[in-house]
Amino acid sequence: NYSLAQLQQIDAAHHLHPFTDSKELREAGSRVIAHAQGPYIYDTEGFELLDGMAGLWCVNVGYGRDELAEVAAQQMKELPYYNSFFKCSTPTPILLAKKLAELAPRHINQVFYGSSGSEANDTALRLVRHYWALEGKPEKNRIISRTMAYHGSTVAGTSLGGMAGMHSQLGGAVPNIVHVMMPYAYELKLPGESDHEFGLRAAKAVEDAILEAGADKVAAFIGEPIMGAGGVKIPPESYWPEVQRICRKHDVLLMLDEVITGYGRTGEWFAATTFGIEPDTITTAKALTSGYQPLSALLVGDRIANTLVEKGGEFYHGYTYSGHPVACAVALKNLEIIEREGLVERVKSDTGPYFAKALRERIAPHPLVGEVRSVGLMGAIEIVKEKATRERFSPEGSAAVTVRDHAIAAGLMMRATGDTMILSPPLIWTREIIDMACDRILKALDLAEADLRK
Ligand code: PLP
Repeated sequence: NYSLAQLQQIDAAHHLHPFTDSKELREAGSRVIAHAQGPYIYDTEGFELLDGMAGLWCVNVGYGRDELAEVAAQQMKELPYYNSFFKCSTPTPILLAKKLAELAPRHINQVFYGSSGSEANDTALRLVRHYWALEGKPEKNRIISRTMAYHGSTVAGTSLGGMAGMHSQLGGAVPNIVHVMMPYAYELKLPGESDHEFGLRAAKAVEDAILEAGADKVAAFIGEPIMGAGGVKIPPESYWPEVQRICRKHDVLLMLDEVITGYGRTGEWFAATTFGIEPDTITTAKALTSGYQPLSALLVGDRIANTLVEKGGEFYHGYTYSGHPVACAVALKNLEIIEREGLVERVKSDTGPYFAKALRERIAPHPLVGEVRSVGLMGAIEIVKEKATRERFSPEGSAAVTVRDHAIAAGLMMRATGDTMILSPPLIWTREIIDMACDRILKALDLAEADLRK
């Protein structure tokens, strides 16, 4: 048995963490999470935290689900691995594909598996370009994305994403990807402009990019229905219908990245339904297994899938773990739990609206809060110095980190991104837990205010 100090020392010596300043990590030491149950995570010292982030937006059914462990163990004993290359398959990815086709919007009936959201987006990028090549239009290969989008950390994911910091370390992005403005009304709305008008203007940026390149050069538009890592940026209602209209008008494919929003987070199985979008591809991962196994599924619409069959020819793409039997067994059981417990419906009609009301009535009035927003169980709190002017504290991002640290000390795991606090809890949260989370957020806001206005 290792002590916390020993684990931290070994961690700093040997483990390079994702999205982490190694120097800071060495100085501060890592928080080592040792076990978890239901909505709670526990560190090695037994400190209990309500997990306001469901891990990384993924543990939708909460922790400690024995059924998922059991189905994984059973599958490992029976068939731990076999591949789905060269016309082979195994039962669980087959059955999961059928299940996903049932859950997905009607025109989506095919699935391509990977192990992560990043891989699924690589697949999506390659697939839409392959599609246009099969259709005899290989020059129709440009992709339009948005600033502040997050589509993963591989070279393709980073290139598709619109995070300036990530691009600056890339040393050359995948070519033919352009980024347009994000639909972030809180900061980008003009004086006198309504949310509706702003949504149309943000959508028009997509059309401008299509026209600038020429529609015959643009393969697809990609977007998260709600930008997640970029700060839970919820577009105005006018945005998605207009983006869809523009894509159809110019025969540009619509790719949705639902790695965060898929599997119940917004109160529907997919946010495509929440926003009334009919995409050509939907990238999913995370809550597909509630994070119990690494698995992604790119859901592929009939238009692309039919062309693959009609034109034939090998798609030179795939991963050793595409359709991993254990991960797929866990996904099937996880989806069964979500259905059996009615978690999607509960978010839609009960906890989602209650969460929105709690944020609005209890959190929004706090002097440090510029805006709250949420859809389903996905929310954001903007931290500001001055409510009326929306002036931020400087340096950028420092205030949200202060709030986050107080929230963690108060027993709530939250994430800070820029000056935005984020919540994306397990879908098993009840009204009582939402109340408890709000108590802890208010305590953190009060303590942070005392620090920040010193
Ligand atoms: N797309 C979105 C919208 C995400 O939020 C993420 C991860 O947070 C990814 C893609 C990448 O997924 P992964 O980290 O599994 O590669």
